[in-house]
Amino acid sequence: MSQSSPLSFSFELFPPRTPESMAKLPAVIGQLAALRPDFFSVTHGAGGSDRDGTYETLLTVVEHSGAEVAPHLTCVGSTRAHIGAHLARFREAGVKRIVALRGDLPATAMSSAAPGEFHYANELVSFIREAHGDAFKIEVAAYPEMHPQAAGPGADFEHFRRKVEAGADGALTQLFYNADAYFHFVDRCKRAGIAIPIVPGIMPITSFANTVRFCGGCGADLPRWVKLRLEELQDDKPALLDFGLDVVTRLCETLLQNGAPGLHFYTINQAEPTLRLWKSLGLSVRGTPTRF
Ligand SMILES: Cc1cc2nc3c(=O)[nH]c(=O)nc-3n(C[C@H](O)[C@H](O)[C@H](O)COP(=O)(O)OP(=O)(O)OC[C@H]3O[C@@H](n4cnc5c(N)ncnc54)[C@H](O)[C@@H]3O)c2cc1C
Repeated sequence: MSQSSPLSFSFELFPPRTPESMAKLPAVIGQLAALRPDFFSVTHGAGGSDRDGTYETLLTVVEHSGAEVAPHLTCVGSTRAHIGAHLARFREAGVKRIVALRGDLPATAMSSAAPGEFHYANELVSFIREAHGDAFKIEVAAYPEMHPQAAGPGADFEHFRRKVEAGADGALTQLFYNADAYFHFVDRCKRAGIAIPIVPGIMPITSFANTVRFCGGCGADLPRWVKLRLEELQDDKPALLDFGLDVVTRLCETLLQNGAPGLHFYTINQAEPTLRLWKSLGLSVRGTPTRF
């Protein structure tokens, strides 16, 4: 695969949950903004809450980075009026890009007929297009290893296609450590005539327990050899960080060398792991790679 368009680099943040972590966020944003990403994204809780801090975090990012910010918007359990109000507020704030998602309600709420006027992300994408035309660039989620609740990879792929047909401009993937799963998914998209960029979601490895938990939570395969080595190194933090950096650097190199259109970093609101990875990949500060 060859790479023709400029690569896209983005950093995902979540709304801080404590005053202490809120106080630390501007410094984190400043350090990451110095790398000149294409955009930051800010996650959003599911269930239509206004109090999860996405909007406030978005304003903080704008203030401390000057970069484009894409709020995530989850729809399950929400109403058209409520989603409409979010979109109006985003538009007023100058937002040009949205990550459109279903989100997750607690298992009890998801198992019955989910409340609200939206059930799947494709409905949200259609709603945004109907209400706002092309005012927002829309990113959706993609699952190279299948969404954990999907009936099967085929059904999940068809549901992904519906989001694209509803008007998505691009996709950001769930985290993964198996490059083949990504390339297989992208090839399948090409065969199906899906031409939107599908940017890999990259989670730096900084802890054994967290990596196992994150992979378990989203159904991502953690290769056995990586898991065993992380477990062995869990009491030797510097060695674990070096090993994790090596694994994720090689993953990113493989992705970029074989045509991935960029990288979306799950920063977990920490600058250092992403900065180390950026350096290890030899990426320049303007996001134009020096090595790919
Ligand atoms: C890049 C990224 C960012 C994320 N950010 C957030 C966030 O900010 N906040 C948050 O709460 N969560 C976030 N998530 C997690 C996401 O909300 C969950 O994975 C959620 O379970 C699915 O959301 P989705 O938009 O992919 O849903 P959908 O695309 O709607 O798919 C959800 C499931 O339903 C199935 N499905 C889809 N359409 C249909 C249909 N019409 N009929 C039957 N089945 C269908 C799919 O196969 C899949 O199993 C993020 C995930 C990613 C990859």
